[in-house]
Amino acid sequence: MTMPEPHHPKDANAPSPAPFESWGRYPSYDAKITPLHWQTDYQPAIAGLHNGALPVGMGRSYGDSCLLKDGNLLVTTGMNRLLAFDPETGLLTAEAGITLAQILDFAVPRGFFLPVTPGTKYVTLGGAIANDIHGKNHHVAGTFGCHIAQFELVRSDGTRRLCSPTENPDWFAATIGGLGITGFIPWATLRLRPIVSRKIEYEGIQFHGIDEFLDLTTQSQNIEYTVSWVDCASTGKNFARGIFMQGDHSSRPDILKPSPAPKLVFPFEAPGYALNHATVSLFNTLYFHKQIHKRVVALQDYEPFFYPLDKVLHWNRLYGKSGLLQFQYSIPWEHAREGTIAILHEVAKSGIASFLAVLKVFGDIPSPGLMSFPKPGITLALDFPIKPDKSFPLFQRLADMTREFGGRLYPAKDAAMTASQFQTFYPQWQQFARYKDPLLTSSFWERVTGDKLNL
Ligand SMILES: Cc1cc2nc3c(=O)[nH]c(=O)nc-3n(C[C@H](O)[C@H](O)[C@H](O)COP(=O)(O)OP(=O)(O)OC[C@H]3O[C@@H](n4cnc5c(N)ncnc54)[C@H](O)[C@@H]3O)c2cc1C
Repeated sequence: MTMPEPHHPKDANAPSPAPFESWGRYPSYDAKITPLHWQTDYQPAIAGLHNGALPVGMGRSYGDSCLLKDGNLLVTTGMNRLLAFDPETGLLTAEAGITLAQILDFAVPRGFFLPVTPGTKYVTLGGAIANDIHGKNHHVAGTFGCHIAQFELVRSDGTRRLCSPTENPDWFAATIGGLGITGFIPWATLRLRPIVSRKIEYEGIQFHGIDEFLDLTTQSQNIEYTVSWVDCASTGKNFARGIFMQGDHSSRPDILKPSPAPKLVFPFEAPGYALNHATVSLFNTLYFHKQIHKRVVALQDYEPFFYPLDKVLHWNRLYGKSGLLQFQYSIPWEHAREGTIAILHEVAKSGIASFLAVLKVFGDIPSPGLMSFPKPGITLALDFPIKPDKSFPLFQRLADMTREFGGRLYPAKDAAMTASQFQTFYPQWQQFARYKDPLLTSSFWERVTGDKLNL
């Protein structure tokens, strides 16, 4: 198995202060980076630490939930072994640093697929658990945590617990979506789902406005995967136009071969002005009309369907050195329609266009995590280039609107919500804090709770 982008320093035994970037590249902090190669590396790595630690994976979280300013980051990507697989049940046990890409390389040729996948396969098993990630099938499959049979949790005092829905269920619930701070996960068991083909029976449908989007959502309830791209730069008759994308795994048996390695790498830091309202509006118009017909049907490989952005490694460089800010809400049904329309109006009015705007409906399968993000309703994810005088005020307006509409923001994507916003979005945070490991923390947790380590 090959690692796409290891974060390993040259001398693996010497912790060194270095920037470990999150995907948004904002904020940027120095931390001591210690690579873990074996599960047993954890205890020696944290022995005698007083300035806090955080286990991290691929750094695909956008903000600071995978950062710890001036602390210790324990990078798990060297711990990527498969430990067991049962083809009868699809149960796969692996070390937590394995990536979903590596799991797919193993599973697809054997007729299995991930039960839930995010928009990139370059995330680790541990990272997927700690953020209880969701995918295009949330309405029928729930979150990633719904498919975790068990994992081990190691606390900094050396205590170890096997956690499952029936064994230590409170620790199971706290750690799924637990932001990496309830303890270290050395390994986990995931339930894969069977497939007979790499292909997805895809359908793309143009829509105009949120009501058409909601009608399409209602019609597609039995389709496994649904997601929409929405043009959030346009106003007037083109307001909230988009493409509704849906698909099912093909039931026609086909050759199950692993994916080729990606070849394209975004080659340079784009200048800060490359993504502006004009270029994004142009992109949106071209993207909307690239689908000439209102409805397009195709048999598509799963790679472009699930991971179109993974085709170009380091595409975040497109946003230049200052990075990007993600904003992702989930607003419950009661206010989902009006909230989404109001927020899209606010974005269009701001003149800061979002290049990637993803709209989706969350279903009502309960998330197993105490702090899991999804709520039944609508979720919208937006990327903004960082322009300090414009993006942060816009973000705060949108976060306040989300609060007024009874929604919440996603910690995995966040670099800017305030402590008061977080504590309204997640009123259970103090109950969750009882499970926090005394040594573990993140810059996100310190920012939104004011809880600084005092060891
Ligand atoms: C292009 C792109 C698309 C995305 N699409 C989606 C999407 O569709 N849905 C979605 O939900 N998310 C999405 N994400 C976010 C991403 O799935 C999550 O942020 C994920 O958690 C990142 O995993 P990672 O391995 O990079 O972990 P990191 O970002 O390095 O860490 C994430 C968290 O996991 C914790 N952690 C990692 N390993 C361990 C361990 N062994 N023990 C304990 N804690 C640990 C860390 O402390 C941290 O809190 C997307 C991100 C990108 C860049």
